[in-house]
Amino acid sequence: MHTIMLPDYYMGRDKKYAEILTDELRKNALITVSKANTLLTKLMAANIPLEASPTTRTLVSSGWRPPEVNAATPNAAPNSKHLTCRAIDVHDPEGLIDDWCMEHQDALETIGLWLEHPSATKNWSHWQIVPPRSRKRVFYP
Ligand SMILES: [Zn+2]
Repeated sequence: MHTIMLPDYYMGRDKKYAEILTDELRKNALITVSKANTLLTKLMAANIPLEASPTTRTLVSSGWRPPEVNAATPNAAPNSKHLTCRAIDVHDPEGLIDDWCMEHQDALETIGLWLEHPSATKNWSHWQIVPPRSRKRVFYP
Protein backbone atom coordinates (compact mmCIF):
# COMPACT_ATOMS: atom_id res chain seq x y z
CA MET A 1 0.00 0.00 0.00
CA HIS A 2 2.91 2.31 0.52
CA THR A 3 4.38 1.99 -2.90
CA ILE A 4 3.06 2.98 -6.27
CA MET A 5 2.74 0.35 -8.96
CA LEU A 6 2.71 1.06 -12.69
CA PRO A 7 -1.01 0.17 -13.02
CA ASP A 8 -1.77 2.73 -10.27
CA TYR A 9 -0.03 5.30 -12.44
CA TYR A 10 -1.81 4.35 -15.68
CA MET A 11 -5.22 4.26 -13.94
CA GLY A 12 -6.49 1.74 -16.50
CA ARG A 13 -5.88 4.20 -19.30
CA ASP A 14 -3.11 2.04 -20.76
CA LYS A 15 -5.89 -0.20 -22.10
CA LYS A 16 -8.34 2.39 -23.41
CA TYR A 17 -5.56 4.52 -24.91
CA ALA A 18 -3.09 1.74 -25.73
CA GLU A 19 -2.40 3.07 -29.25
CA ILE A 20 -1.02 6.38 -27.96
CA LEU A 21 0.98 4.95 -25.07
CA THR A 22 4.36 4.95 -26.83
CA ASP A 23 7.58 3.33 -25.66
CA GLU A 24 8.87 6.77 -24.75
CA LEU A 25 5.85 7.44 -22.51
CA ARG A 26 6.26 4.00 -20.93
CA LYS A 27 9.91 4.76 -20.15
CA ASN A 28 8.91 8.10 -18.63
CA ALA A 29 6.25 6.39 -16.50
CA LEU A 30 8.81 3.94 -15.11
CA ILE A 31 11.12 6.79 -14.11
CA THR A 32 8.28 8.84 -12.61
CA VAL A 33 6.98 5.90 -10.54
CA SER A 34 10.47 4.93 -9.43
CA LYS A 35 11.33 8.45 -8.27
CA ALA A 36 7.95 8.81 -6.58
CA ASN A 37 8.59 5.59 -4.66
CA THR A 38 12.00 6.88 -3.55
CA LEU A 39 10.34 10.00 -2.18
CA LEU A 40 7.60 7.93 -0.51
CA THR A 41 10.32 5.96 1.29
CA LYS A 42 11.67 9.21 2.71
CA LEU A 43 8.17 10.35 3.73
CA MET A 44 7.58 7.05 5.52
CA ALA A 45 10.92 7.33 7.30
CA ALA A 46 9.74 10.75 8.51
CA ASN A 47 6.44 9.24 9.71
CA ILE A 48 4.34 11.22 7.26
CA PRO A 49 1.04 9.33 6.92
CA LEU A 50 0.27 8.07 3.41
CA GLU A 51 -3.36 7.55 2.48
CA ALA A 52 -5.11 6.04 -0.50
CA SER A 53 -7.28 8.40 -2.49
CA PRO A 54 -10.96 7.55 -1.96
CA THR A 55 -11.46 7.95 -5.70
CA THR A 56 -8.66 5.76 -7.04
CA ARG A 57 -8.03 3.60 -3.93
CA THR A 58 -4.29 4.01 -4.53
CA LEU A 59 -1.81 6.65 -3.41
CA VAL A 60 -2.05 8.18 -6.89
CA SER A 61 -4.76 10.79 -7.30
CA SER A 62 -3.73 11.51 -10.89
CA GLY A 63 -1.23 9.71 -13.08
CA TRP A 64 -1.01 9.50 -16.83
CA ARG A 65 -3.46 11.75 -18.65
CA PRO A 66 -4.04 11.13 -22.34
CA PRO A 67 -4.95 14.40 -24.15
CA GLU A 68 -8.68 13.70 -23.95
CA VAL A 69 -8.47 13.14 -20.18
CA ASN A 70 -6.25 16.18 -19.61
CA ALA A 71 -8.62 18.39 -21.58
CA ALA A 72 -11.49 17.22 -19.34
CA THR A 73 -9.48 17.76 -16.12
CA PRO A 74 -10.47 21.00 -14.37
CA ASN A 75 -7.59 23.52 -14.16
CA ALA A 76 -5.14 21.16 -15.89
CA ALA A 77 -2.41 22.93 -17.82
CA PRO A 78 -2.70 22.32 -21.58
CA ASN A 79 0.98 21.33 -21.62
CA SER A 80 0.78 19.32 -18.38
CA LYS A 81 3.66 16.92 -17.72
CA HIS A 82 0.98 14.32 -16.93
CA LEU A 83 0.45 14.06 -20.70
CA THR A 84 3.93 12.66 -21.22
CA CYS A 85 4.06 10.49 -18.08
CA ARG A 86 6.54 12.87 -16.45
CA ALA A 87 4.30 13.98 -13.54
CA ILE A 88 2.30 12.38 -10.77
CA ASP A 89 -0.18 13.60 -8.16
CA VAL A 90 -0.10 11.85 -4.80
CA HIS A 91 -3.13 12.04 -2.50
CA ASP A 92 -2.35 14.59 0.23
CA PRO A 93 -5.60 15.60 1.97
CA GLU A 94 -3.97 17.39 4.92
CA GLY A 95 -1.05 18.87 3.00
CA LEU A 96 1.42 17.00 5.20
CA ILE A 97 3.31 15.63 2.21
CA ASP A 98 3.56 19.10 0.66
CA ASP A 99 4.72 20.52 4.00
CA TRP A 100 7.49 17.94 4.27
CA CYS A 101 8.56 18.51 0.66
CA MET A 102 8.73 22.27 1.19
CA GLU A 103 11.00 21.73 4.18
CA HIS A 104 13.17 19.15 2.41
CA GLN A 105 13.78 20.56 -1.04
CA ASP A 106 17.27 19.08 -0.89
CA ALA A 107 15.64 15.63 -0.94
CA LEU A 108 13.67 16.58 -4.05
CA GLU A 109 16.88 17.74 -5.66
CA THR A 110 18.73 14.53 -4.79
CA ILE A 111 15.97 12.39 -6.28
CA GLY A 112 15.41 14.69 -9.26
CA LEU A 113 11.86 15.83 -8.64
CA TRP A 114 10.20 19.24 -8.91
CA LEU A 115 7.21 20.24 -6.79
CA GLU A 116 4.26 22.35 -7.81
CA HIS A 117 3.67 24.97 -5.11
CA PRO A 118 1.25 23.64 -2.45
CA SER A 119 -0.98 26.70 -2.85
CA ALA A 120 -1.92 25.30 -6.27
CA THR A 121 -2.41 21.67 -5.17
CA LYS A 122 -5.14 21.61 -2.53
CA ASN A 123 -5.74 17.90 -2.02
CA TRP A 124 -2.68 16.39 -3.64
CA SER A 125 1.07 16.82 -4.10
CA HIS A 126 2.31 17.22 -7.69
CA TRP A 127 5.77 15.89 -8.50
CA GLN A 128 7.46 15.96 -11.89
CA ILE A 129 10.72 14.57 -13.24
CA VAL A 130 11.56 17.57 -15.42
CA PRO A 131 12.14 21.18 -14.39
CA PRO A 132 9.52 23.83 -15.07
CA ARG A 133 10.33 26.77 -17.30
CA SER A 134 11.46 28.80 -14.26
CA ARG A 135 13.89 25.98 -13.32
CA LYS A 136 12.79 26.45 -9.70
CA ARG A 137 12.56 23.35 -7.48
CA VAL A 138 9.15 24.55 -6.25
CA PHE A 139 7.18 26.30 -8.93
CA TYR A 140 3.87 27.95 -9.69
CA PRO A 141 2.01 26.50 -12.65
ZN1 LIG B 1 -0.24 17.09 -11.20
